Amino acid sequence: MEDVWDLVVVGAGPAGSAAALRARQLDPGCRVLLLDRAAFPRDKACGDGIAAHARQELALLGLPGLLDDHRPTPRLSVTSPGGAHVSAVVARPNHVVPRRVFDARLVEAARARGVEVRRHRVRTLTALGEHVVVDGHLVARAVVAADGANSAVRRLIGVPPSPDRHTAIAVRGYADVPPDDDVQVIVMQSEAWPAYGWSFPVGDGTANVGYGLLLPRMREIGLPGREILHGRLARLLPLLGEISSPVRDLRAHHLPLSSGRPVPGAGRVLLAGDAASLVNPLTGEGIYYALLSGRLAAEAAIGSPDDPLRAYRRGLRRALGRHLRTTDVLALAARSPGFIDAAIDVAARRTEVFDLLVDVGLGAGTVPPRLAAAVALRWFKNLA
Ligand SMILES: Cc1cc2nc3c(=O)[nH]c(=O)nc-3n(C[C@H](O)[C@H](O)[C@H](O)COP(=O)(O)OP(=O)(O)OC[C@H]3O[C@@H](n4cnc5c(N)ncnc54)[C@H](O)[C@@H]3O)c2cc1C
Repeated sequence: MEDVWDLVVVGAGPAGSAAALRARQLDPGCRVLLLDRAAFPRDKACGDGIAAHARQELALLGLPGLLDDHRPTPRLSVTSPGGAHVSAVVARPNHVVPRRVFDARLVEAARARGVEVRRHRVRTLTALGEHVVVDGHLVARAVVAADGANSAVRRLIGVPPSPDRHTAIAVRGYADVPPDDDVQVIVMQSEAWPAYGWSFPVGDGTANVGYGLLLPRMREIGLPGREILHGRLARLLPLLGEISSPVRDLRAHHLPLSSGRPVPGAGRVLLAGDAASLVNPLTGEGIYYALLSGRLAAEAAIGSPDDPLRAYRRGLRRALGRHLRTTDVLALAARSPGFIDAAIDVAARRTEVFDLLVDVGLGAGTVPPRLAAAVALRWFKNLA
């Protein structure tokens, strides 16, 4: 057995690095161990879209300039399943940074702050009085499980995996685009709805392009997943912008949606990010929620060592409670593509509605009653 760690973090994606960084920020003397089965830099299937809201979290973690050398993407273009279209400058620009770069920078920042980083795949977990023993030899006062969509720790503490109806699957690749392309393009699809394709330009003459849909919709199609994902992405490419090369480095992964979120932990083990099913069910955005929940998990582990789960649940409720209830309802309404057509239609006419939708889809936004009424009215008009 080694000495006791104040915090062991499993998984060094955005949720895990945020937890490790926050713990040392709150208590520079605490002993924090960050474990990942992969060596960094490592790739991760993702659209690489880093919302302005995520940059706000980076600032809270003491890393306000982490993406300063990457060009912002000021414009967002969205086409609804029925063809309603909005293209506008976002209130605060997003960034597109390949995860190979972004995640490695976070891990380096954690290391520089005194976190011990080890390559290690976690396989077992045992509660032992006021401690948790990881893989029989790592003793922790608390564990943050940030091991992603197929979290092993989540299984080990008896929390069931995300149900299929609350899980999406998406593929991403890279392709060449004009170097001055600075528009994030999202094209929704009525076929196998809800489904959409995207092109997110990195700023170096390449774009991250991808396609995703709900897992049950993919199963209904009855073809091999790879055939569906790759085939539909290829068919969508002409709608996604000026793409001038074949798509390379295709890679797919599951997205556990927050509409199916579980209890976020057990005892002294706290689930964060995808392991806690915190992906936005309307957009598939997860990095902001990973950074936020990782930070909150560390605050609970370090600030409330006697009952970290209770403190964590309170923190999550305060930060995301209303937002998550909002997206639960919107995800139900969005089963009808006409609802999204109406929302995009209203957003195209009113800048403040566009900004609000961005906040709901990429941040912790909620829907004021006046906006709900405007979208409902448009939806009914479209139906009439
Ligand atoms: C195709 C696709 C496109 C997406 N596009 C976007 C987007 O544009 N913007 C956005 O915000 N979100 C996007 N998402 C969602 C986003 O990728 C996730 O929400 C985000 O990566 C969650 O971060 P995380 O830290 O919780 O988990 P991850 O980033 O998955 O990190 C988990 C880490 O845990 C490690 N690990 C796993 N098991 C173990 C183990 N047993 N022991 C030790 N380590 C382990 C892994 O190696 C990994 O490094 C997309 C997802 C997909 C699949």
